[in-house]
Amino acid sequence: MKAFRGEILSVPDDPLAAGPEAIRHYEDGLLVVEDGLVLACGPFAALAERFAEAEVEQLQGLIVPGFVDAHVHYPQILRIASHGEQLMTWLERHIFPAEEAFADRAHADEIAAFFLDELLRHGTTSALVFATVHPGSVDALFEAALQRDMRIVSGKVLMDRGPEGLRDDVPSGRADTEALIARWRGRGRLGYAVTPRFVPTSSSEQLADAGALLAAYPDVLMHTHLSENPGEIEFVAGRYPDAADYLDVYDRFGLVGPRSVFAHCVHMSDRALGRMAEAGAGVAFCPTSNLFLGSGLFDLAAADRHQVRVGIGTDVGAGTSLSILHTLGEAYKVCQLRGASLDPFRALHLATAGGARVMGISDKVGSLLPGQEADFVLLDDKATPLLARRCAGAPLHDRLFALQILGDDRAISGTWLRGRRASLHSNGGLT
Ligand SMILES: [Zn+2]
Repeated sequence: MKAFRGEILSVPDDPLAAGPEAIRHYEDGLLVVEDGLVLACGPFAALAERFAEAEVEQLQGLIVPGFVDAHVHYPQILRIASHGEQLMTWLERHIFPAEEAFADRAHADEIAAFFLDELLRHGTTSALVFATVHPGSVDALFEAALQRDMRIVSGKVLMDRGPEGLRDDVPSGRADTEALIARWRGRGRLGYAVTPRFVPTSSSEQLADAGALLAAYPDVLMHTHLSENPGEIEFVAGRYPDAADYLDVYDRFGLVGPRSVFAHCVHMSDRALGRMAEAGAGVAFCPTSNLFLGSGLFDLAAADRHQVRVGIGTDVGAGTSLSILHTLGEAYKVCQLRGASLDPFRALHLATAGGARVMGISDKVGSLLPGQEADFVLLDDKATPLLARRCAGAPLHDRLFALQILGDDRAISGTWLRGRRASLHSNGGLT
C-alpha cells in the first residue's frame, strides 16, 4: 500500500449540474493506492490513522486526475504547425502524405513511442486516438501503450473513398477491424474504436458496415469527425441531399449511440444536438484545432442546453498543442467569443471525468474515487516566474485558471499511472 500526501483536487461531477458540491478539494490530502487502484482519497487528518501502515510520499504541487484527451491523431504529430490551409486542402497537402508513411511498421513504432511519451509529459493518461488506415499503425500504438500501461482507445481508420495509397475496401476494412478487436481485446487498459474517418472518405456501404461492426461488438466505441468545416459540410450535403443534416447521415447507418464520439461538432443545428443528447453520444471539443484551421467556434452553451456529453480533444496535428492545460485556455477563449464564461473547475471536469464519460471509462479513471485506477498528475503553479507570481497567495480558483491560461507541459511535475510514476521510453522524450 502506498499513499501520496499533498494538495488534491478532483471534479467528478459536472459543476454545471451539481454545483460547487462537485468540487473535491483537500488542501492537505491523502491519496491511498493499493494494487494500482484508489483505496481512499480525502483529508490527511481524516485518513492518516486508518492507513498508518501505508508508505507516504509527500508531493509538492496540486494533485489532479490524469488528463483525458478525447480526440487526437498520433500519425499527424510531426505535421503539427503546417501552414496555410483549411480542412480539406490541409488534409490533402499535409496529412494524407504523412499518413501513407504508416504502411511502414518501424515508422509507426517510432512515432507511437514518441507520441505516448509526449502525452505523458503533458499529463495525459487516457486518450481516444486516431491511427491510420493501416492495421499495423494500431498494433504499433497498442504495443507502446501496453508497455507504458496507458489507457488508450484506438482503431484502424476506415476510408474506402480515401486518396490513392490510403484506401481500404469494405471487406478488408471489416476483416482488419475484426482481427484487431480479437488481437487486442482484454489486454492491458486498451480499448477498440470502430473509426470511419468521416463521411467524405467512406462509401455508404462502408458506413453501413461500420454500423454493423458497432452493433456486433458491444464493448467497442465509434470514433469519427462531425460538422467541422463549412466546405466539408457542403460536400456531405451534396452526397446525401435528403439527409436532415450531417449527423443524420451517420444516424442512418447506425453510428449514433451512447458509444459514439464525434470530434468537433462546430456547426450544429438544435435538431442535431437534441438527437445527440437523446442517443447519449459524446462530443470532443477541440478548440486549438478549430481556431488553427479556421473551422469555427464550438458552442458549448448550446451543447449544455441539450445536455450533450462533452470532453476535450487536442486534435493534434490540426490542434496546436498536446497540453490539455493549454487547450483549456483556448477553450475559455472560444467560449468568450461565444459570449460565455468557462469556469476553471468545470474546465478541469471536462478534461478529466467528463472526457472519461464520453469515452465510456468514467468508472475506471477521471475522478480519483475509491475503486478507480490511480492515474494522476502533479501540477506546479510555480513552473514559470510569472505563474509563481500570479499564483502566490491566490485562491484555488485563480491558481487553477492561471494554470489553464499560462500553463503547459512546464507545469506538469510528474505523471502517475496506476500509482506508479511514468518513465518515458522513447529517445524523443524526457530523460
Ligand atoms: Zn481529428
